[in-house]
Amino acid sequence: MSRRLATVLSVLAVLLAGCTPASAAPARAAVVGTVTLVDNGPAANRITLVLIGDGYTAGDLPRFRAQAAATWRALSSVEPFRTYAPFFDVRRVDLVSPESGLGPDSPLGMHFGCGGTPRLLCADEAAVSHYVGPAVGPEYVIALADSTAYGGAGGSGVTTLSAGAKDAGSIIQHEMGHTVGGLGDEYDAAPGGQSDFPNLSTQDASAMTSAHAKWWRWLGAADPSGGVVGAYRSANGLYRPTQNSIMRRLGGVYNLPCREAVIEALYRRLNSIDAAAPAPRAGPVAPGRTLTVTPLPLAGGRRLTVRWTVGGRPAPSAALRDDGLGLDTGALGLGPHCRAFVRATVVDRTDWVRDERFRQARMRASAVWLVGSF
Ligand SMILES: [Zn+2]
Repeated sequence: MSRRLATVLSVLAVLLAGCTPASAAPARAAVVGTVTLVDNGPAANRITLVLIGDGYTAGDLPRFRAQAAATWRALSSVEPFRTYAPFFDVRRVDLVSPESGLGPDSPLGMHFGCGGTPRLLCADEAAVSHYVGPAVGPEYVIALADSTAYGGAGGSGVTTLSAGAKDAGSIIQHEMGHTVGGLGDEYDAAPGGQSDFPNLSTQDASAMTSAHAKWWRWLGAADPSGGVVGAYRSANGLYRPTQNSIMRRLGGVYNLPCREAVIEALYRRLNSIDAAAPAPRAGPVAPGRTLTVTPLPLAGGRRLTVRWTVGGRPAPSAALRDDGLGLDTGALGLGPHCRAFVRATVVDRTDWVRDERFRQARMRASAVWLVGSF
C-alpha cells in the first residue's frame, strides 16, 4: 500500500469514526477533532485544560470522550476546584491511535513504570505538545491512557491518568494538586528528603511559627478534612498539615494549606478583572456614561468583591448599578469643568487564603477612569 493510499484510507476511517471497525483504524495517529467541552470565558484570562488520549482507536473514541468528560467532572467536584471551576476552559483533542491500548506505537508514548515506579504513568512530552498544538493562554495538559491499570502522574509538565482505572476520578483530583498547586505527597511512603513543597515541612509547629514558614498562618484552624491544622509527622520524617488529606489518601479533600496553594497558583496566571467598559485607557469619559467592570466568575453563588471609589473616597451608593458591577457617572453630581478619577477594585476575599500580602498583590486588580466634562 502506498503512503498516499494509506493517508486516503486513514482520512476515510476518520470520517467514518464511530462506525468503523477497529481493524480499519488508520495506520498513523491523527487528530480528528478538537472540541471545546467547557467555555467559561476568553482563553487569554482562563486556564485551558486540554484533554488528549493515547491508545484510543477511532472505534474507542466514544470511550475516550466519556472518560474526558468524567475527568473534568471529577476535578471540578472537589474544592477548591469546584468554586474556581469558572477559571477554566476545557478543550478535548480527539487523537486516533493506530492500536487499542498502550504499546510501542502509542502516539503519545505513554507507559507505566517510568522512574522505576510501577504505577507511575509517563508520556512523551514532545509528542503530546505536537498533537496538542500551541497554547493560546495559560494551559495544563492531561493525557489519558486507555488502560484500566491503576496509575497517573502530576507535577510540572503533562499530567497523566489511567482513564479506565476504577479510581480514575480520585487519582486526577490528587494529581492536579501536584500540577496546579505544586503540592507534595503527604503519605508515609513518599520520599523523605523532599520538603520543597508548600504542604511539607522539616519543621514542627513551633519552629514554623517562629520562622513564619510554610502553613504557619493555618496552625490551629479547623480543617475541612476533619481535625485541626497542625504539623503531623509522617513515617518519612516530614511534617504535613493534617492527619488526612487528598495528598495523603485518594478520595480525601484538600486541606486548608493545600487549598490556599492551589488558589494562589490560579491567581499567578489570571487577572481578577475580565473586562472593563469603556476601555479605561481609551481616554476621559463624559459624565452620564455608565462604567462597568466584569470580574472573573466563581461558582456556587460566590463573587469577587467590587469596590468603587471616586477621587479616592467610596462612591455614593446611589451611583451604583447592575448589582454593584456598574457605576452611573451621571449620578456623581460632577459640576461643569469638574473631573474625578473613578476606580473599580476587584478582589477575592476568600477565607481560604490567609496570606494577605499575596491577596493584595495578586488577587486584586483595578480599573481607573478619568470622568468629567472637558
Ligand atoms: Zn502524588
